[in-house]
Amino acid sequence: MSSNLDTQAEIKTIQLEKLQSGMEEVLASNPFYQARHHQVTSWDDFYELPFLIKAELVEDQTKNPPFGTNLTYPLGDYVRLHQTSGSSGGRPLRCLDTARSWQWWTSIWANHIYKGAGITSDDRIFFAFSFGPFVGFWSAYAGAERLGAMVIPGGSMSSEQRILAILDLEPTVLCSTPTYALRLAEVASKMGIDISKSSITRTLHAGEPGASIPGTKQAIETAFGAICLDHTGMTELGPTGFTCSEGDGVHFIESEFIFEVIPVGTDPDPRNTQSEGVGELVVTNLGRFCSPLVRYRTGDLVDLSRQPCACGSPFVKAVGGIRGRVDDMFTVRGINLYPSQVEEVLRRYSEIVNFQIRHKKVRHMDEVALLIETRDGSDSVVEQVVLDLRHSFGVRIDCECVPSGSLPSDEMKAKRVVHVQG
Ligand SMILES: [Zn+2]
Repeated sequence: MSSNLDTQAEIKTIQLEKLQSGMEEVLASNPFYQARHHQVTSWDDFYELPFLIKAELVEDQTKNPPFGTNLTYPLGDYVRLHQTSGSSGGRPLRCLDTARSWQWWTSIWANHIYKGAGITSDDRIFFAFSFGPFVGFWSAYAGAERLGAMVIPGGSMSSEQRILAILDLEPTVLCSTPTYALRLAEVASKMGIDISKSSITRTLHAGEPGASIPGTKQAIETAFGAICLDHTGMTELGPTGFTCSEGDGVHFIESEFIFEVIPVGTDPDPRNTQSEGVGELVVTNLGRFCSPLVRYRTGDLVDLSRQPCACGSPFVKAVGGIRGRVDDMFTVRGINLYPSQVEEVLRRYSEIVNFQIRHKKVRHMDEVALLIETRDGSDSVVEQVVLDLRHSFGVRIDCECVPSGSLPSDEMKAKRVVHVQG
């Protein structure tokens, strides 16, 4: 135990050194931080700093188009543009990188994410993503190149074409969202192909909690005859975590970020955050000082544990990965639930291929309905699903079977909760 505490003290020393030297450069020239921060020379200084939320960054870019004021260097020094999906209804946030900060991204991929997943330069990695402004694909791709693995882009292809490419090119790793991996397996089975017999030995996912939800992980592992692995990251922050080989969560990379937790549903006090426990994840990046984020509220729900891990990683573990978006929590008769909890129940049914939770407020009452798609369009599992959900959560959630293909199942993040007007 004492060695674990020593390691934690060492990590904190490294974090403070990186933050101090990085912020010195930032405060000399970055207008966004000049307006909100002072120099950080101690942890006490750090805990005085305000939280940052995405809306502030979007507002800054709206007032100072197109890139806002969170820029430490002249624009000519920046070499890459990515942007968030804007899936939560807001404007996409634009994120710029310099050559140096892009190297930081790719080194984290090579040294932590691929390494943690047991992927090496001998692997051949198939990327089932379209080229676009979404950073996930680009950073995974550039990180794999840096690792020395063979990279196979799977953009601009239908699911059928991707299946055929996997059979032809014999990749050993599939990178995609968890939902899309299951979709690919479904398409393969319709084509009469047993994808579990393919060359894929590992699947690597992000974008949704799925790969850390035991039922979903199991479904992907069975479909591909492969080990299913998770990692985490955000366009505006960088790649934050990698799968623990114990298979029960994600380690957050504390040599490159500072992680804190704040309670959900309150007005949190920046001076009173936790380094473990359940709550919303707050992150500071320590290698992207060209456009840094300090104490950024991610909106992600996590359960951080500092118990020593059998895998040997010195870093904090998000048990069960990212549990979901704080905003996606919904309430049924006073019980707070997250989509990942519903997903865990639904994955017990191999007949269910997709689902969505529809949340409606009717006269201040929460009404929740679960929509499912089944493999053969039959609604024979509906009754059992309702019983199972009731057994798991103690509340009744109505369930309805919808026609095949009516719920979104594309290669980007699945939207699990839809809030409709009552
Ligand atoms: Zn571990």
